[in-house]
Amino acid sequence: MNVLVINAGSSSLKYELFRMENETTLASGKVERIGLDTAIVTHEPSGKDEYRDVLEILDHTAAMREVLRLLTHPEHGVVQSMSEVHAVGHRIVHGGETFSQSVRVTSDVKKEIKRLYDLAPLHNPAHMMGIQAVEAILPDVPQAVVFDTAFHQTMPAKSYLYPIPMVLYRKHRIRRYGFHGTSHAYVSARAAQVLNRPLDALKMITCHIGNGASVTAIQGGRSIDTSMGMTPLEGLMMGTRSGDLDPAIVPYAMEKEELTLREVNSMLNKHSGLYAVSGISSDMREIVQAMEEDNGNARLAFEMYEYRLRKYIGGYAAAMNGVDAIVFTAGVGENSSVLREAVCTQLTYMGVRLDEEANRAASSQERLISMPDSPVAVLVIPTNEELMIARDTYRLINGG
Ligand code: ADP
Repeated sequence: MNVLVINAGSSSLKYELFRMENETTLASGKVERIGLDTAIVTHEPSGKDEYRDVLEILDHTAAMREVLRLLTHPEHGVVQSMSEVHAVGHRIVHGGETFSQSVRVTSDVKKEIKRLYDLAPLHNPAHMMGIQAVEAILPDVPQAVVFDTAFHQTMPAKSYLYPIPMVLYRKHRIRRYGFHGTSHAYVSARAAQVLNRPLDALKMITCHIGNGASVTAIQGGRSIDTSMGMTPLEGLMMGTRSGDLDPAIVPYAMEKEELTLREVNSMLNKHSGLYAVSGISSDMREIVQAMEEDNGNARLAFEMYEYRLRKYIGGYAAAMNGVDAIVFTAGVGENSSVLREAVCTQLTYMGVRLDEEANRAASSQERLISMPDSPVAVLVIPTNEELMIARDTYRLINGG
């Protein structure tokens, strides 16, 4: 059985086709700049050359049609016909309080995703366009939805509520939801396997550090707290997002700089973080390189980024009264040995003993990077959100 995983954004559509019998990728790719006559298509069929094209793609249905054309193409394709796409799984950013697990798409599920537009105005409408595009072209193919927020629905009220008037929660559902749930769930399960210990018995802190970044405290396989909040702005300092700050700064900066709501939102989401402090880039590779060339602002940006991450790790160890394993994943977490070393060498008080050689090894493999006798294990686990979505879809479509 083949499962097509779709991640639809407002102007992009990423896809990966899996053969579930052996969980291999048949092809992956993306359509970018949807809505323009210069949309860019990148298609990577397994075992064949990459294919790129620039063409007019005006909406998500046209993008989906192009994806299916390429998947079944005599030269660039990987299957004979569209009938070999047996199910489709979609990544959905916000499942609110309704969805604590993945579900099959029904008209009620679609209504609920629409009701949640307010909480994720940039993401959920785009995901819906992806679902509707599949319905238009493959009307008989079953679809499932997998939510970034679902894994965090196990958080207790003391973690997910904000200490503000409760009417805001009751009326508007203002609370912590958390994001990157599919990734935190995947890497925590893999880490338990690598450690050869039952997930149920472990206290873990998983650090998903990419352009967006979040940390999760996982006890017995369940998320009990996470750093992102009602939106993905809270928590860690990120590439272009501020993360935590004094909320009084928002009205103060708006008044002093005469900013509109839209402008202050954009400032905190797109012009803050590493980018703002370094004045160079939001990309950790460029920050580390500039730091090595003695750029003081880049060093300060790195130190703030690392310090804020380390404080969260310490906080979550306190929240769980201990930690058995710390896991690093996503673009920065998987690749930046410099960041991992900076964090871990300051966690010796809690029993972290980094294996510096294993940490520095240029490898994209899952691996242990702490010493064999370290009371707290540290691991690098490359995330694979697409595979998780494919697995959930496969299970749901097969009645699981
Ligand atoms: P997204 O949140 O967009 O999914 P990713 O998880 O792909 O992001 O992470 C992207 C980030 O990973 C880049 O911005 C870059 O800073 C970082 N990154 C990638 N490779 C390296 C590397 N070798 N060293 C340090 N940082 C890296």
